[in-house]
Amino acid sequence: MSKALNILKEVFGYPAFRGQQAEVIAHLADGGDCLVMMPTGGGKSLCYQIPALLRDGVAVVVSPLIALMQNQVAALHEIGVRAAVLNSSLSSQEAAVVERKLLASEYDLLYVAPERLLTSRFLNLITRIPIALFAIDEAHCVSQWGHDFRPEYSQLSVLHERFPKVPRIALTATADMDTRKEIIERLGLDVARVFVSSFDRPNIRYQVIDKTNSRVQLLAFIQAEHRGDAGIVYCLSRKKVEETTAWLIEKGIRAVAYHAGMSMQARSLNQERFLREEGIIMVATIAFGMGIDKPDVRFVAHLDLPRSIEGYYQETGRAGRDGQAANAWMVYGLGDVIQQRRMIEESEAEFKFKQVATKKLEAMLSLCETTTCRRSHLLSYFGEVSDVTACGNCDVCLNPPQVWDATVEVQKALSCVYRTGQNFGAGHLIDVLRGNLTVRVKEWNHDKVSTFGIGKDLQERTWRAVFRQMVALGLLTTDSEGHGSLNLTAASRVVLKGQQTVYLRLQAKLNRLSEKRQDDDLAMMDSTERYLWEQLRTWRAKTAKEYGVPAYVIFHDTTLRELVRLCPQTEDELRLVTGIGMRKLDKYGNHLIEILRNS
Ligand code: ADP
Ligand code: ZN
Repeated sequence: MSKALNILKEVFGYPAFRGQQAEVIAHLADGGDCLVMMPTGGGKSLCYQIPALLRDGVAVVVSPLIALMQNQVAALHEIGVRAAVLNSSLSSQEAAVVERKLLASEYDLLYVAPERLLTSRFLNLITRIPIALFAIDEAHCVSQWGHDFRPEYSQLSVLHERFPKVPRIALTATADMDTRKEIIERLGLDVARVFVSSFDRPNIRYQVIDKTNSRVQLLAFIQAEHRGDAGIVYCLSRKKVEETTAWLIEKGIRAVAYHAGMSMQARSLNQERFLREEGIIMVATIAFGMGIDKPDVRFVAHLDLPRSIEGYYQETGRAGRDGQAANAWMVYGLGDVIQQRRMIEESEAEFKFKQVATKKLEAMLSLCETTTCRRSHLLSYFGEVSDVTACGNCDVCLNPPQVWDATVEVQKALSCVYRTGQNFGAGHLIDVLRGNLTVRVKEWNHDKVSTFGIGKDLQERTWRAVFRQMVALGLLTTDSEGHGSLNLTAASRVVLKGQQTVYLRLQAKLNRLSEKRQDDDLAMMDSTERYLWEQLRTWRAKTAKEYGVPAYVIFHDTTLRELVRLCPQTEDELRLVTGIGMRKLDKYGNHLIEILRNS
């Protein structure tokens, strides 16, 4: 193991292993199979990259995303590791060169797309050389239930059949038990050791905010907390992606779009910009994001409610991979609940599927409506028991919502639904309750029903929150014809009869959250530190451009921050900085020292 630690220090420039890395590496280097479940940013890549250097032969890494393999390989070249990609982005001549070098044992790691790996040509090719290991990245792609399902992944068991002696490592950031079982089954990993890390991401701050006008709220959030930062904004529909992007650009924000309806070319262009330039905001549907290994995404925003906690966690997990402070921010309102329920009802899927979808949506809603710590709620959803019941870094912990006894108001609302014939949506019902004489109210004679005006004491906004929570709690349901009208349920009758008390949350004012974060050392820098930071960033951008790689491939923000904090003046001092290994010290050491001495 001392050899592994040496590689970590000299090649990667890190002082110590994180979490279970050391154990995984020892097991794999020793020839054992394993399944590694670690959250995004947990450091999965090192788990196979170091064994690749320790063992004889080439490590074959299966990865589903072409553009991102390229960046991984670029980062490996930067630290002097011999690696290459083999996928459809190469011309046949280029591929021939890679194959020739492969046979000449000139690589430590080879990244391959699954469809390429499965060709008999490739499988025959690799029988001719020693293989160090097989790494199957994003292993949850075997799962037919997940939205990342890749049919080729289910054929990867062929590796074990053809190369029974070569150890395999499967890696995923998906945490749930069903996926875990499916990976083990489909990849034939029943004797593999399973390494499960904590899925907590302490540097991510979770916030769920009452939706009023999502675009305006988003802009205010970006301006208050994320000027010049890279971030991802998720929307449900392609149309909303386009509208939001256009609107942000109009407001002077550097935003690009990504959804499955765009041409391949436009998509990869925008993805490249997001990865390579600094401070770009990617507005996207969930088609975007798998395998994105950009470490400095400072926030992930959801403008629409995700379908499940699994999806939400995976998407928000793309923030703050570098371990620095990051935000997972979501706006959520009545419309979201109604829309998601309707989408399930209207879908043509089988009953079983709808049942699963409903269960997942309900879990998601309960996360949104929770009055206790969101982090502990999330972790317990993934079966993680922790003693921490208040993390101190989510909106609920920072600003606990008030809970109020809303039984009477809920009864009024339910009775209004009943009196108006279970035929109307929340907007109209609120008008009736608040005694607004709208055209529609007059048209239906709803100023004559007994519930007209009985809810004047609550603001429209509060009523919307009440209705939202009633739908989320199952006290109201949407009709199956999809008109958005609200109907009573069995549960509502219990409340109407006065047999149950209903507590709802009162949206807290979020002023305290916009204060400077103590864990955000960038926000805490003084002016000279700030100056040095900008100098280093400028140098990094220039260098990245010169080599045609993303800035983070040169150095991560984490490294730059440490440079600012420690201000090393000699090569020996530089060596101690995280992310500076032998190769980078050789290549950039002089430039860094020059900048550091002059500021
Ligand atoms: P994952 O694939 O699990 O999402 P990565 O392998 O991309 O995560 O690692 C996340 C980040 O953490 C990377 O920037 C990586 O260089 C860094 N990292 C990984 N292991 C260590 C370590 N032992 N010490 C310091 N940084 C690490
Ligand atoms: Zn919390």
